[in-house]
Amino acid sequence: MAEQPCIVAIGAHTADMEFTAGATLLKHVRQGWQAHLVSLTLGEKGSARLSPAEYGAQKKTEAEEAARLLGATPHFFPYLDGELPNTDEVAREIARLLRRLQPQVIVTHWRDSIHQDHTNTYHLVRRARFLATIRHFDLDGLPPMRWARMYYADNWEDPEHFRPYVYVDISEVFADWEQAFKSFAIGRGEGGFPYWDWYQARTRIHGIHRRVQHAQAFAIDEDSMFQVRELL
Ligand SMILES: [Zn+2]
Repeated sequence: MAEQPCIVAIGAHTADMEFTAGATLLKHVRQGWQAHLVSLTLGEKGSARLSPAEYGAQKKTEAEEAARLLGATPHFFPYLDGELPNTDEVAREIARLLRRLQPQVIVTHWRDSIHQDHTNTYHLVRRARFLATIRHFDLDGLPPMRWARMYYADNWEDPEHFRPYVYVDISEVFADWEQAFKSFAIGRGEGGFPYWDWYQARTRIHGIHRRVQHAQAFAIDEDSMFQVRELL
């Protein structure tokens, strides 16, 4: 039997990957893939009303419910919201997880963000992919990862120079994604920013451009864009 393919989404905070790539993950799950949702921090400082301890516990519960609805396995790293360090130590922790999961596809943040945790996550994940792939880095004796394809998700906080290149038609999983999205209080509009309005409108606009109902969009590295053809 062929090995089950694997997609891993790595976000700085809970809700980042669920909102930007959750429907895409669910679509892969429906096609027989295994999916993993990794949160490097809980995003516990995002509430004006609750303490970080209270809100962190709430967001972890919300992320577990969203992952369940998306058919994905949640993973939580112990770093602090707003204080995610861009160090080799953190990259090695992510690389260990990548070696254990052996994904074919990795989704993470785009580079240019208003949130430093997001920008750090971009650099950490790229470094982790490198460390996980090169066999001569010893990571607890774990076997190296094959080169995984990398995609950068469309996040309202990461807009600078973000250029969509790959679109995934999410129309068939849209309703289930909405349910997972609204596992989060911020996904239900509690907390100020109208996340659902932005993301559903965004996927609809992408869908209009690509002639489907709803689509999630991803950027890729420029060196992945080259094509070699016999003829034009
Ligand atoms: Zn975030």
